[in-house]
Amino acid sequence: MTENSDSIQTTCPYCGVGCGVLASRDGGGYAVGGDPSHPANLGRLCSKGAALAETLSLDDRLLYPEVDGERVSWEAALDRVAEKFSQVIAEHGPDAVAFYVSGQLLTEDYYVANKLMKGYLGSGNIDTNSRLCMSSAVAGHKRAFGADAVPGCYADLELADLVTLAGSNTAWAHPVVFQRIAAAKQARPDMKVVVIDPRRTATCDIADLHLAIRPGADAWLFNGLLNHLRREDGIDWSYLENHMEGFGTALEEVSGLDIPRVAEKCGLQEADVAAFYRLFTQTLKSVTVFSQGINQSASGVDKANSILNVHLATGRVGLPGASPFSITGQPNAMGGREVGGLANQLAAHMDIVPECIERVGRFWNAPNITHRPGLKAVELFDAVREGKIKAVWIMATNPAVSLPEADRVVAALKQCEFVVVSDVTGHTDTARLAHVLLPAAAWGEKDGTVTNSERRISRQRAFLPLPGEARPDWWIVTEVARRMGYAAAFDYDGPAAIFREHAALSGFENNGRRAFDLGALAGMDAAAYDTMAPVQWPVRQSGHGTPRLFAQGHYPTTSGRARMIARMPRGPARATSAAQPFVFNTGRVRDQWHTMSRTGKTPRLLAHIAEPYVEMHPADAATANVRAGGLARVRNGRGEMLARVVVSADQRPGSVFAPIHWNGQNAARARVDVLVYAVTDEISGQPEFKHAPVAVEPYVAGWYGFVLARERIDSRAAEYWTQVRAKACWRHELAGAEAVCLWPRFLRERFGAAGDWIELQDGAENRYRTALMREGRVEVVAFFDRDFAALPPRLWLETLFEKDALSRAERASLLLGRPGKAAPEVGRIVCACFGVGEATLGQAIAQGAGSVEALGIKLKAGTHCGSCIPELKQLLTAGG
Ligand code: SF4
Repeated sequence: MTENSDSIQTTCPYCGVGCGVLASRDGGGYAVGGDPSHPANLGRLCSKGAALAETLSLDDRLLYPEVDGERVSWEAALDRVAEKFSQVIAEHGPDAVAFYVSGQLLTEDYYVANKLMKGYLGSGNIDTNSRLCMSSAVAGHKRAFGADAVPGCYADLELADLVTLAGSNTAWAHPVVFQRIAAAKQARPDMKVVVIDPRRTATCDIADLHLAIRPGADAWLFNGLLNHLRREDGIDWSYLENHMEGFGTALEEVSGLDIPRVAEKCGLQEADVAAFYRLFTQTLKSVTVFSQGINQSASGVDKANSILNVHLATGRVGLPGASPFSITGQPNAMGGREVGGLANQLAAHMDIVPECIERVGRFWNAPNITHRPGLKAVELFDAVREGKIKAVWIMATNPAVSLPEADRVVAALKQCEFVVVSDVTGHTDTARLAHVLLPAAAWGEKDGTVTNSERRISRQRAFLPLPGEARPDWWIVTEVARRMGYAAAFDYDGPAAIFREHAALSGFENNGRRAFDLGALAGMDAAAYDTMAPVQWPVRQSGHGTPRLFAQGHYPTTSGRARMIARMPRGPARATSAAQPFVFNTGRVRDQWHTMSRTGKTPRLLAHIAEPYVEMHPADAATANVRAGGLARVRNGRGEMLARVVVSADQRPGSVFAPIHWNGQNAARARVDVLVYAVTDEISGQPEFKHAPVAVEPYVAGWYGFVLARERIDSRAAEYWTQVRAKACWRHELAGAEAVCLWPRFLRERFGAAGDWIELQDGAENRYRTALMREGRVEVVAFFDRDFAALPPRLWLETLFEKDALSRAERASLLLGRPGKAAPEVGRIVCACFGVGEATLGQAIAQGAGSVEALGIKLKAGTHCGSCIPELKQLLTAGG
């Protein structure tokens, strides 16, 4: 059942877990909940998924096509794109154009974009932002298995006796997978969890063993494990002899890696390495989950293979509770892989080799099919900068923020002859640089399929009308294709027709030779597509999916055997130095997604972490002379960022961490990727996002402050600024190096004299507090001080904007910045679902709430999505 009078079944648009979502009418709007019937999440949602209904507003939406900043008709915009791409190809050849696409696209959108570029325009120059998160896993799978296929499924995480999480903060980046593992461990206390991560993250909440590995040393650890298996009789020799090749060379390669050497290379205690090796060797039912911490490396493919090797060596592939398991970052990274969204793939998991080129060209009846791979993401924007690519179309992604050396990407786009951006908003760092803006349909408005990390294809269904003149991405691409002369090949009447063709191509002359096969779905009519239930590929003729692959030891390689490939690890591409002594690591936070264009609309998701930050070990903070809560300048030879300092012993000494989400629209100089060097894995092309050398130094501010206002105000006059939504106001954090803060004057000019300005200046320089009241309502509150620690918490002040009139006590407390005794401090929000703060939790713990359950009963914290439970446990351990 996909729709009844109350709800529509669809899929979450954020991470690669691919949770099923029920969207139900709720008054004039929609409510969103987890779909209990969806096999990925069985009704669960994390904080981001649970807040989806709050992201449906049309604020910031791009609703009409624009050319050179002017609104135009669709006809004019599409004609312009088609004419310019045709002109560039005619004058400079097909490799002078490119598409840069996204794991946010639906499979049907992806399919037509790839078909147009590789089959009809005649270039391989289409690459996807999934290059940035999992292309090393793709290459590792292809080298080992002969196909880009994840062998296991989520149920294996619950069946396993050992789950190893390598380079994955699952609790924050894939929360529902984490919740499934945590629930399984609670039900079976003998189940073991090992976390391999330089940082002590929220994921360590369920870890029996945390290996705080030296950044980048993972291949040492897994190659050493392979050698340990050999020495301790842990290898399944029968499996190797019957189903493998290359294992003799691989075992020889790792033969010198004993535990002391591994421990030294990984910066770990020998006893901890030995404990992990013992657990893995003795536990047949083991799943090793790996993610960006492995993939985002200049040797990411070798790291991925080092993990696949230990599973192949023990025959633990595609068995219930036993498999390696790459989990993807984006909702449809897997769908992009399936249709050839990567520049080095063709379509339907076929390679750009003569046999496949001929087959796909015949299937598509394609006149200009590419005969060579295109440029991978980093190379592609290098070619834009060098003027080799003269027209680029960027779909549903923001490379000016997310690519390495992001300032170079901005420079490349500024000088590019023709930049098209199709997206849901025109307010991104990339969209601002476009000559043509095309309004795309957003989640809830578009219709198609996505594939999650366990190969499960699910329908994403529309439940909202298309706003303004927004159109689905597949429609936009096919309209351009028609105008370029390819109407017959792009004559689809909807996503169902595209999906049928995609399925047919996967089954075309397949005969079981290619793992990716949806041929059984090629005859699906529109009604069947509408009601299609989630299914894992390959899909059998019966219509049933396949939960696990390779269980019989047959692999889609030429020989039918898997390959073991072990290379001795290489160091990171860029080493630290005396001038740049810290390793810069980037990643996600719990409640934000990518560059915040959707999650940034939700005040409660911004309440958990509201500012860009850099997290450091206390010893490093002391060395760098920075203080918790102060600001730091993080810099290297590529760029510089400003961020709030968080000091935590959870960081490994020598490593600093910063989240990826902030961008030029909501913060000054907070794009982490300006610091990431554009060095990539030589096979996968995936950039090394986890290992840039940086220096950290204090940002010496003359003043700090914040402004809460009902309107967003232009903050660019401050050297440091961030601006995020609170429930009824905008919160602007500010700082500047000037000796005298000019903001009080700016605010007066900005908001005018009308109303009642109240102020408090205690005589000290730059210590100033003010509020503007109009008709009993607070319009603006601003605090400035030389010392950031003297500024009050923001949360109580933010709640005053929700009131039509302040009480006498509230007004009296306004410029104190703190409520009286009747309204106790809430503190930083921990539980986003119910707005429960750190101070409230601390009080409850002090009053005897001694468990997560007790906090749930008393405050409801942790009782909805469960994403905050690791932090609740940390507070309980710390005694509140
Ligand atoms: S884990 Fe959260 S973000 Fe990921 S798909 Fe599920 S609800 Fe969405």
